[in-house]
Amino acid sequence: MGDFVHLHVHSNYSILDAISSIDSLVTEAAQQKYSALALTDHGNMHGSFEFYKTAKKAGVKPIVGVEVYCARDTVKEPRTRDNPTDHMVILARNETGYKNLLKLVTRASLEGFNYVPRVDPDMIREHREGLIGTSACLSGGINSYAIGEKFYNRSTKTYEYTDPSYDKALAYADRLKNTFEEGCFYLEIQDHSTDNDMGLNQCRMESQKWMVDKQKIVTETAIRISKELNIPLTVSNDVHHTKQCDWNAKDTLFAVRTISKKYDPERKLTTDSDQFYLKSKAEMIDRFRDFPEAINNTVLIAEQCNLDITVGENHIPVFDTEGQDVTKYWRNKIREGFETKYRPGTEYRTEAVQRVKYEIEVIESMGFVSYFLMVADFISHARGIDIPVGPGRGSAAGSIVSYCLGITEICPLEHKLIFERFLNSERISLPDIDIDFCKKRVGEVYGYAQQKYGEKNVARIATFSSMWARSLIRDVGKAYDIPKEEIDSVASSIPEGAGEFRAKIEEQAEDNELIKAYASSSEVWKTMIDDAKALEGAKKAVSKHAAGFVIGDDDLTKYIPLMRPVKNKPGKKKNQVEQEVSIDTTDTMMFTQYPMDDLEELGLIKMDFLALETLTIIQDCIKLIQKYENIDVTTNVTYNNLLSPTAYSLMSLGNTLGVFQCESPGLRHLLMQIRPEQFSDVVAAIALYRPGPMDAIDEATGMTMMDKYVQNRTFKRQDESFTWEVLHPEMDDILKETYGIIIYQEQIMDICRKVCGYTYNEADKFRKAVGKKIPELVAKEKKAFMKGALGQGSMVQSDADKLFGQLETFARYGFNKSHAAAYAVLTYRTAWLKQEYPIYYMSALLNASSNKSDGIDKRKYVNDCLLNNMKVYAPDINKSELTVVPENGGIRCNLSMIRGVDGVSEKIIAERKENGEHTSFVDCITRLSKVGVNKTSLEALINSGSMDSIGNRDQMAHYGWDLLQSVRKKQKREEGFASILDDDELDIPDMSSAPTLDKKVKDSMSVKYLELYSLEDK
Ligand SMILES: [Zn+2]
Ligand SMILES: [Zn+2]
Repeated sequence: MGDFVHLHVHSNYSILDAISSIDSLVTEAAQQKYSALALTDHGNMHGSFEFYKTAKKAGVKPIVGVEVYCARDTVKEPRTRDNPTDHMVILARNETGYKNLLKLVTRASLEGFNYVPRVDPDMIREHREGLIGTSACLSGGINSYAIGEKFYNRSTKTYEYTDPSYDKALAYADRLKNTFEEGCFYLEIQDHSTDNDMGLNQCRMESQKWMVDKQKIVTETAIRISKELNIPLTVSNDVHHTKQCDWNAKDTLFAVRTISKKYDPERKLTTDSDQFYLKSKAEMIDRFRDFPEAINNTVLIAEQCNLDITVGENHIPVFDTEGQDVTKYWRNKIREGFETKYRPGTEYRTEAVQRVKYEIEVIESMGFVSYFLMVADFISHARGIDIPVGPGRGSAAGSIVSYCLGITEICPLEHKLIFERFLNSERISLPDIDIDFCKKRVGEVYGYAQQKYGEKNVARIATFSSMWARSLIRDVGKAYDIPKEEIDSVASSIPEGAGEFRAKIEEQAEDNELIKAYASSSEVWKTMIDDAKALEGAKKAVSKHAAGFVIGDDDLTKYIPLMRPVKNKPGKKKNQVEQEVSIDTTDTMMFTQYPMDDLEELGLIKMDFLALETLTIIQDCIKLIQKYENIDVTTNVTYNNLLSPTAYSLMSLGNTLGVFQCESPGLRHLLMQIRPEQFSDVVAAIALYRPGPMDAIDEATGMTMMDKYVQNRTFKRQDESFTWEVLHPEMDDILKETYGIIIYQEQIMDICRKVCGYTYNEADKFRKAVGKKIPELVAKEKKAFMKGALGQGSMVQSDADKLFGQLETFARYGFNKSHAAAYAVLTYRTAWLKQEYPIYYMSALLNASSNKSDGIDKRKYVNDCLLNNMKVYAPDINKSELTVVPENGGIRCNLSMIRGVDGVSEKIIAERKENGEHTSFVDCITRLSKVGVNKTSLEALINSGSMDSIGNRDQMAHYGWDLLQSVRKKQKREEGFASILDDDELDIPDMSSAPTLDKKVKDSMSVKYLELYSLEDK
């Protein structure tokens, strides 16, 4: 039998068009004994590296390509009838070709974007080395000339076709032939005709026939041109789904994409052939039996394509040290920090000297010096311009070098944090340091990154949203026109969950009783569920990663494809699910086309700048204290030393609404049980209050880890001599601070080290392997562990066995102590501020929640103020400021806390600042009218009681709107808009006749507008 290779294949990175995952394509190709396979997604390379890796692993040679959008003539002009956008397949022959492809797709997005990212023949020519081009589908340029061009006739409002022109097709083929290197352009022929009864309606049968006819014309034209211009032929199947039976699901995807009904006979975008699947060699060879040479050319092309992508090289930029030797510079920086943090004679100094030397050695040998300097520089830049930075997050807090460089704020020795949990010198992978910045100003730090490292060397990271169980059922159900109630009930019966815990339709179809009932009783439901299964995981949109970006040592397009996200054109149809990223056009930062995991393998350093609102709240609170009390709390000893008993007593009372990480009723309850007295208690509480430790049962006692901890903590408080049993004497010291319970991953590492004589690197490996629950891995680790425990640890077999069992459980649930400790610093600080400066803290907290529209947080915090006997003054038109502010021992609410006033409160305050307090009802209405207060906001202002200081509420409520109208009329007259014959007097009603409202009614009105005063805790 002959051979054939698929060179025109789409994965689900051809977003909302093709449905196959890269995995399924590669698996199928390997099963069908294909030696090579190409991936040619529409206009992007999102999946190229994933495909490269997956195919290599499966023993299928990867051919990286793209089906580009090509402007017929030039990208310098937008899409027009004379310059339409065509399809063209481009494949990389080698690394040079791959790099050229990276440049091309990036330029298509940056320079050629017009509805879609476009290249043009001239652009391809500039980057043609190592590339092969083929003429693609019916939407290819040559083919469009051959079959006649579809265009929209504006006057008749219909689609029409120009006459086919062989000459034009020939001329364009000649242009494309000369666009590529000698012998590197092919004419592609396709045949998607089908003999199967697909159950299509008349209209769709016609559309199928149209396609088949046109493909015949293309084939005839290609044969002629091939002879005339000596361009070889090639064959392809335009693969959009892996298996033939998936055609219906792909068709459904089109209905989802265009938000239309699957069985609407008028539906525009449809799939009218079942032939777009990954066919076998035999099928392809048989179908194109008249073209053995073209079939053979696919094999010859594949033989020419041999790509090796360089991985494992690191592209961290060299940090600019202004001419100094980098190593010297960094050691000096560390020394500076070290000397201020570990002064001679202080507790940890001797230990710290050893530790810092060791870490420096490891980091230098791993080549990460520049990376640490970069991170430290971002932080010191931010601090320098008063942008709050978090005390650290993730495992980086385990490093003393991080601490000395100012990257983290906690001493790893004091808190027993382990460096190897952060960087394992035996496992060379880039370290991961995430940084929290103030929510409002994190954007400025991105700007600094661009400016410092060059716009071309910095990019945000793309991420993809996919169709998963719940949303998928909704989308597909809608396309099938299934009643909303049915869809809703099924969707809500599917459990939520992310990552590995995400529900799958495949499993749901087996286990979910509701789905089973519907599927067995209704044919539509059954088909719908089948489609949903096939569409599970299909990509829906590309968007930006919340916080991540990469920085390279050079123009990033040398290593990866980039794109500039664009806003959808205003003219784009609204009834289309978004296919393109829509972002703020003022954002100048480019995006990677590759997802995050690929970037790390390609040696690009990733950083996460996270926006943390707590930092904003802390800073606002500190500023308020400075302003009103003239005190700088950041120099306060107990604010900094984590030792204030009053802050801990606030936590012990569970009075932690608004305290970082301690808001939930469950955690507040836990704090009340633990009754923290020191920092380590808080760290433990945070680490314990998570699904794992809350449910993990201690076999000996049948208690959960969390309950056991609470019990031991309580016993110890009651009786200092209370002890617990440990399986090995070395564990006493390790578990002292957590009262005999293993809570942290660091403790597991310490136990392994002490009991089995492991190095920290080995202990880190043990923790990871055992935590993964893979039986073979666990068995392997157990063997080594037992050897160590019985030998080095001189344990008896049964105890060692037991200990391993404990570690196995806790490796699964143990928490990263570095992260918990760093975050607990923020917990302590917010608790301290709430305890010592409640008025200022609650003001800052309320101001931070002011941009949340639901009002739940505001209500919750106001109630908390009241419960803590704090005076909360209602909004007052003469006293409120733009934000919530301290006033007279309490806090004064701002006008935007009144429902319906938010839009104009800023103007009302600005006007008052300029013209002084409102002195009377008439004065007030006159001025409110000028700033644009309408009926709704006026009613809200009056009924909430915010105007009580200037008049009688009953009267104002009754006559307010009338008066506002008269005032408006008068103001219009003055501006000359009305007839000059109108008189100039203002109608001031006699207000004494206003009905007096019952107090209860009035109160309920004000509650309506100031819902935050309701004491119900929601
Ligand atoms: Zn195409
Ligand atoms: Zn295609």
